[in-house]
Amino acid sequence: MRKIEARSKQHPLRLNVGFLLHQGVGTSREFDFDLQAVEVSEDVDLAFLRGVLNLTRISQGLYLQGRLDTQIGLECDRCLTDLQHPLSITPTELLYFPPQPAGDPALGVPETGILDLKPLLREYFLLGMPMHPLCRPDCKGLCPECGGNRNETVCEHLAAEVDSRLAVLKSLLPDS
Ligand SMILES: [Zn+2]
Ligand SMILES: [Zn+2]
Repeated sequence: MRKIEARSKQHPLRLNVGFLLHQGVGTSREFDFDLQAVEVSEDVDLAFLRGVLNLTRISQGLYLQGRLDTQIGLECDRCLTDLQHPLSITPTELLYFPPQPAGDPALGVPETGILDLKPLLREYFLLGMPMHPLCRPDCKGLCPECGGNRNETVCEHLAAEVDSRLAVLKSLLPDS
């Protein structure tokens, strides 16, 4: 409960980097992450987030690099079961200070010095997601007839399907 309250005040992926604006080039600062249940965006829900991001002051802004490990909640492409997909990202980005132009607003440090990493990290997580996540490599999927999960149940339609496939195969075979 307390965690949720703290997060509603400030999301853990919003970093106060204002102090780095006034530091000399080469100054760096590490940000450690060890979080449970992080909502990065509507489409990116993380079971946890662990790792380190390093921000270094350079002349144009901040250089961000690091590594974050997570598990991302997805749905099996075949049977629609919820699954947790392990994912690691190693972001490296140049974040511009104003008034330097940043083509992508996610790559700018606002005047407030509060850097919202959510849009930037969302892109990394989306890129790292599998196109067709599977609960297991040999997932049998759902029955198109009754919607039953074929990993868990054997419905009558499966046998009928196999029979009809065999019939097709037999019809392809030359008559002996
Ligand atoms: Zn599945
Ligand atoms: Zn069925």
